[in-house]
Amino acid sequence: MYDIAVIGGGINGCGIARDAAGRGYSVCLAEMSDLASGTSSWSTKLIHGGLRYLEHYEFRLVRESLEEREVLWAMAPHIVRPLRFVLPHHAGLRPAWLLRLGLFLYDHLGGRKLLPPTRVLNLKTDAAGAPLKDDFRKGFEYSDCWVDDARLVVLNARDAADRGADIHTRTQVVKAVREDGHWRVTLRDLRTGTERDIEARLLVNAAGPWVDKVLGNAFGQNGARNVRLVQGSHIVVPKLYDHDRSYIFQNSDGRIFFTIPYERDFTLIGTTDRDYEGDPAKVAITPEESAYLCAATGEYFKKPVAVEDIVWTYSGVRPLFDDGASKAQEATRDYVLREDGKPEDGVLVNIFGGKLTTYRRLANSVLQKIEGALGAKGPEWSGSKPLPGGDFPVLDFAGQLDALKRRYPFLDDGTALRLERQYGTFALEILGNAKTFADLGRDFGAGLSEAEVRYLMRREWAVSAEDVLWRRSKLGLRLTVEQVEALGDFMSDLMASAA
Ligand code: FAD
Repeated sequence: MYDIAVIGGGINGCGIARDAAGRGYSVCLAEMSDLASGTSSWSTKLIHGGLRYLEHYEFRLVRESLEEREVLWAMAPHIVRPLRFVLPHHAGLRPAWLLRLGLFLYDHLGGRKLLPPTRVLNLKTDAAGAPLKDDFRKGFEYSDCWVDDARLVVLNARDAADRGADIHTRTQVVKAVREDGHWRVTLRDLRTGTERDIEARLLVNAAGPWVDKVLGNAFGQNGARNVRLVQGSHIVVPKLYDHDRSYIFQNSDGRIFFTIPYERDFTLIGTTDRDYEGDPAKVAITPEESAYLCAATGEYFKKPVAVEDIVWTYSGVRPLFDDGASKAQEATRDYVLREDGKPEDGVLVNIFGGKLTTYRRLANSVLQKIEGALGAKGPEWSGSKPLPGGDFPVLDFAGQLDALKRRYPFLDDGTALRLERQYGTFALEILGNAKTFADLGRDFGAGLSEAEVRYLMRREWAVSAEDVLWRRSKLGLRLTVEQVEALGDFMSDLMASAA
């Protein structure tokens, strides 16, 4: 009998599992696919207050999000990093005074201690103006943070497991019924097809865009429509400029979009907002979205971006709480928790909406409901302990990287940076006493070694080449088809021999 069973291994499910396990509850989490294979790996990857939400008067959400930036940065200074955003003033769109007012609020609403404040930019003299068209003369530069979204999920799951939670991937919750004051939950192992039951005193439905589907299929509550599914797509192109800042651009349709330096050699451009019907697992960018993002970018940069330049795209579905807004881009990004049932029967907590940025605060609110139903255990703690590999001072990333390079001089600069960013202090667990790259076993290409793959399988629930190449890392951008195949074969053989 678990205290809590969590449905869904996205950021919300894993954040709740970590918080609950750390307070002393017994926790089981089931994820039907890979961790972070849903919306949580398809985001723009910003830990941000959300400048745009100020226009919708979402002050509570913006304040909470602004505060979370430095909390998450301190918890995970390897996978989270500060990022400066350049906002050019566009003569035909929002006036300069409005941008200045928004950024003043953004700087002062709360939580900013280390991140530098907003400054005004002369785009004629600053390097940020160089790639832009000549009409852009003035801009603003402000701070937010960037995060490796999929790794944020996996590190929460790892920490939850290290604190006692049972994490099951490729495991679908197919049925949940109340029985003698608790839940009987049927789990299906999607690799073998076998089913088994577990019992839990409380259930959390953190199935993201599938939340209503789970309510229908597993709980028999058909016809629920609590979330509005809104597709957002991104394109990746070879890098558009040399400096390390991002741009936030306004578009004439009132939307904003970002261009963000990505994986050293690329620029990430996104996103879009369009209502989506259908299976969230099958969402894919449409030709119109690709064309829209290229055209919008071309409005600002001297060098146009063509659809042929795109090297990768991804698409995800936001599970937004359905607040009845008429336009997809206006639907609230805030989260709503809904409790169903009494403690003596077995409580179900459903999660609608939310952002990566606020996952820890959402988890904390869910824990308050859990305490109400099951009784309190430990105190609030999740913001004060680092995520795995993040146990170094927040401003010392460069020092950590230098130390790694000194200890393992055979690593090329790109691989050293990638390993430090992905694993922080845990990079040492992968590299051990290696003196040469060959000591790490097989070389799968682009700096991916057998030692790293074995670590990901042993410690991070990776079972397929896709898990390794697109969620634990983004090496999928660099490996050839043959290299991907060789990695897949290696992993299958290892799994078969372990079984
Ligand atoms: P998910 O990550 O989808 O997790 C739900 C999980 O439940 C899935 O992995 C699924 O496989 C699993 N599941 C479903 N049914 C079952 C079942 N029956 N049994 C077991 N498992 C099941 N937020 C930010 O803070 N910053 C951003 O920059 C940002 N940009 C975004 C851009 C886009 C285009 C999108 C789409 C979202 C963005 N977000 C951003 C929002 C953020 O990504 C989401 O709010 C967040 O990832 C939702 O997490 P989740 O855990 O609720 O859902």
